[in-house]
Amino acid sequence: MAKRILITGGAGFLGSHLSDRLIEAGHEVLCVDNFYSGRRENIAHLMQHPRFELFRHDVSFPLYVEVDAIYNLACPASPIHYQRDPVQTTKTNVLGAINMLGLAKRLKVPIMQASTSEVYGDPTVHPQPEEYWGNVNPIGIRSCYDEGKRAAETLFFDYRRQHDLPIKVVRIFNTYGPRMDPDDGRVVSNFIVQALKGEPITIYGDGSQTRSFCYVDDLIRGFMTLMETPHDVTGPLNIGNPNEFTITQLAELVVAKTGSSSKIHYLPLPSDDPQQRQPDISQAKAVLNWTPTVELDEGLDATIAYFRSTLASAAH
Ligand code: NAD
Ligand code: UDP
Repeated sequence: MAKRILITGGAGFLGSHLSDRLIEAGHEVLCVDNFYSGRRENIAHLMQHPRFELFRHDVSFPLYVEVDAIYNLACPASPIHYQRDPVQTTKTNVLGAINMLGLAKRLKVPIMQASTSEVYGDPTVHPQPEEYWGNVNPIGIRSCYDEGKRAAETLFFDYRRQHDLPIKVVRIFNTYGPRMDPDDGRVVSNFIVQALKGEPITIYGDGSQTRSFCYVDDLIRGFMTLMETPHDVTGPLNIGNPNEFTITQLAELVVAKTGSSSKIHYLPLPSDDPQQRQPDISQAKAVLNWTPTVELDEGLDATIAYFRSTLASAAH
C-alpha cells in the first residue's frame, strides 16, 4: 500500500537513494533537509515528481507534518562535515532524535534511526556484533558524532520502553556509491577523485587500518526490508558488507581501476581513527534474510563511472 514517508536528511547521499527507491515502490516522499551537508543535485531529478516534496528544515527544531513512517537520516556523516560544527552535530543527533521521536509518537508510526558503526568506537572486539558495547572516547574530536549517535539510540529505546513506539535502529557500516560528495573527505570518494585528477592519493597513517565497504544499493534494500518487519523487530541491526580491506588495499585497487598515475602520499592519522572495522551481520541475515550482493570490485566500477562523468561535466 502506498504510504507518505518522511526522510530526514533526504538530500544527502543515502537519503537521495532511499528517496529514489521509495518513489519507485509507489510511495510519496517528504524530504526534509537543511542542506548542511546535502546537495540539491542529489534530488534535482526528483523535484518535478508528483510524489516527491522537499521541505528545508533543521531537525533540531520541532516538525509538524502528517506521515505514515519516518526514516531519520539527518546528520552529517563524514568527519570533515561533522567536525566543522560539532555542537550542531550533537544537536542534530540528540534534539533531532527527540523531535522525530515525538512526531512518531504523536502519529503512532514506525521510525527508523540511521545509527552507525561509530557507536563501537575503536573496537576491541572483531568483527563487531550488536551485543558489543563499544570503545568510545567521550571527549575526542569524533565524540560529537559517536556520542550523539549513541544518545540517539538511547532515546529510541527509551521511547520504545516508555511509549511502545515501533522503532528500528540500523547500525550502518561504511557505505559508498554514486552521489557521494566529492569534497566531504570520505575515503572512497577522496581516493577516486584524487586518482581521476592525477593528484596524490592521501593515506592517513600507514594505511593498515581497515574498513568494510558496503555498496549503497545493498544498504537501502536493508533499510526498506527492516522498515517492513513486525513491531517486535527493533534492532539494533548491523548493516554492512563484511569484506574487510586495509586502506592501502583500497588505494591500490582505485589506482589500478582508474589506470591513474597518482602516487601514494602519507599524511598523519587523525586522532581516534578506528584501527579495524568489520560488521558481524549474522543478525541481519537471520532477521531480514539480508546479505550484501555487490562486492567492492563491482561497486567501485559503478562509483568510478559516476565520478568520471560528474568531473567531466564540471570541466565543461
Ligand atoms: P550526508 O551528509 O550525505 O547526508 C546527511 C543529510 O542530513 C544531508 O543532506 C544534510 O544536509 C542533512 N542534515 C544534516 N543536519 C541536518 C539537520 N539538523 N536538519 C536537517 N537535515 C540535516 O550523509 P549520508 O552518508 O547520506 O548519511 C546519512 C545518515 O546515515 C547519517 O545519519 C549518517 O550518520 C548515517 N551513516 C552513514 C554512513 C555512510 O557510510 N554513508 C555510515 C554510518 C552512518
Ligand atoms: N582516510 C585516508 N585518506 C583519506 C580519507 C580517509 O586514509 O583521504 C582513512 C581514514 O583515516 C580512515 C578511513 O580512511 O581510517 C575511512 O575514513 P572515512 O572518513 O571514509 O570514514 P570513517 O573513518 O568514518 O570510517
